[in-house]
Amino acid sequence: MSIKERLNNILSKLPEGVTLVAVSKFHPVERLQEAYEAGQRVFGESRPQEMASKYQQLPADVEWHMIGHLQTNKVKMIAPFVSMISSVDSERLIEEIEKQAAKYNRTIDILLEVHVAEEETKSGWSEEELYNYLATGALERMEHIRVRGVMTIASNTDDQSVVRRDFQHIRNIFEELKPRFGEAFDTLSIGMSDDYPLALEYGSTMVRIGTAIFGMREY
Ligand SMILES: *Cc1c(COP(=O)(O)O)cnc(C)c1O
Repeated sequence: MSIKERLNNILSKLPEGVTLVAVSKFHPVERLQEAYEAGQRVFGESRPQEMASKYQQLPADVEWHMIGHLQTNKVKMIAPFVSMISSVDSERLIEEIEKQAAKYNRTIDILLEVHVAEEETKSGWSEEELYNYLATGALERMEHIRVRGVMTIASNTDDQSVVRRDFQHIRNIFEELKPRFGEAFDTLSIGMSDDYPLALEYGSTMVRIGTAIFGMREY
């Protein structure tokens, strides 16, 4: 199947209003170009340098989403153009995003990454850390950051009941935080190639799909 066919196949399964982030990390720019020509505009990358390089090679109407763990000292590489940072997992990172966004006179959308999966290796705030941070009120003072929602990566397991538990958990956190941030807080980013049909059942509004569009990655 071509990239276009794979994209259309996935899009046909997404309810209206669900955003497809085409996760293009580790794939050459020609593959992204192919997806772009098929109409795809939102791309997800995990490494700042790679994103910055691809940004320069693709048309300006592409929306770039940072989905991978982001080191504080790399924020400046993507701050001039990134649309959304989905992997926001620390106070330091938030402060740096605020600083860099202010420098470029921009507002950067973020998602709070929460760790709900079984594996300890996964990144993201624990629920407790996140609520402790939010209680300080610091986030509301960031004038160049717009908090759009939450993101998580579910447990990597064949046991559907565990994945369902993760999705239910993040959904509850999403609902709980909504009143705090208001209307702009509209994004529940769950679902990847293997689990996005399940994520849709739990109200995903943004799926991040790589392998099912571009094939296997060569690291
Ligand atoms: C790589 C990655 C994806 C895409 O994974 P696939 O299984 O290839 O669809 C989604 N989200 C995050 C955070 C990722 O790092």
